[in-house]
Amino acid sequence: MADQEMMSPAACGYGLLGLCCVSCLKGPCRISPFDDAGSAGLCGEDRDWIVAHNIVQRVALESLPAMAAFRNALERASLPGSRIETQRLDEMKDLLSPFSRKENASLGRLYPEKAFPSLHAMGYPSGSWIAVLLDTITEHPSMTRSAEANLVDALRLSAMALGAEALSREISSSTTGEMDVALPDSPFPLLLLISDESAVPDDSRESLLDEIEASCRDEVRTYRLPHAALLPSFARRVFDQWGAPVSMTKSIAVVASSSITWGLGALALGFSLISLPGYPIQGSLLVENYLTEVLKRKFGHAYLFIPPREDLCDRILGSLKP
Ligand code: SF4
Repeated sequence: MADQEMMSPAACGYGLLGLCCVSCLKGPCRISPFDDAGSAGLCGEDRDWIVAHNIVQRVALESLPAMAAFRNALERASLPGSRIETQRLDEMKDLLSPFSRKENASLGRLYPEKAFPSLHAMGYPSGSWIAVLLDTITEHPSMTRSAEANLVDALRLSAMALGAEALSREISSSTTGEMDVALPDSPFPLLLLISDESAVPDDSRESLLDEIEASCRDEVRTYRLPHAALLPSFARRVFDQWGAPVSMTKSIAVVASSSITWGLGALALGFSLISLPGYPIQGSLLVENYLTEVLKRKFGHAYLFIPPREDLCDRILGSLKP
């Protein structure tokens, strides 16, 4: 194992900070973290835009397989003998239409406003996901949105990708999509541990989650989820039981995944987030501040950055205290 680690190539230092941009053929451009604040890429975009745009581009790219899987599930469910009602199927198909912008009833069931107020406050679109995805990814570098607008787009797209995965699973299984999970009688911060089991097996990631679970379970109700697609249903369950959105419960999702949409999706739905590994945002104070502070002020939950030498369990338990 030690030999394997020594042979692994080192990750790109610029990329880890989010400061490497390959968005157009004028570049690639990269900005040194030691350059002055005014330094920019060849198109004139600054470090804040580059870090935020890298995030939204990554989210858009990861959203495509989720949408394709959703389309495939809908195609299978359209065959004769399907247990899904035709009207419900048509509503879900509208989510994949590049033209439809009309209000969609499937979204109302998946993300009801009362259970997901912070998601709706971000301007969660009521119509087709594909229309939103196309609008986001066709932005030209010379007609840019602000860094903050890019981050809001990334959060909304991540919620869509999680939603597409949740609906695909609901269609493909014989379940209603609702999670049967036991919650405490009254509102209480919850700790959710989510591991990407479909990714390449990673023993160190699993043992880290085991360690967190063992250290925290006496102090906080802990749940292990095999897939982030269960998060929308979990959050609806919280609202059904307590009449309060998960964003008001100080609950934390620890997401161990190489997919950025899983963690940002959890954040968009109202969970505070610890991601393993951390996100490439430290190249921009604005981006870091938006995810760790602005979201907290606006909605009460945020991305929890773990400094390198800080104990993960201490940080989690500290964040759960009132
Ligand atoms: S979009 Fe701007 S910063 Fe990015 S590669 Fe092109 S010129 Fe460089």
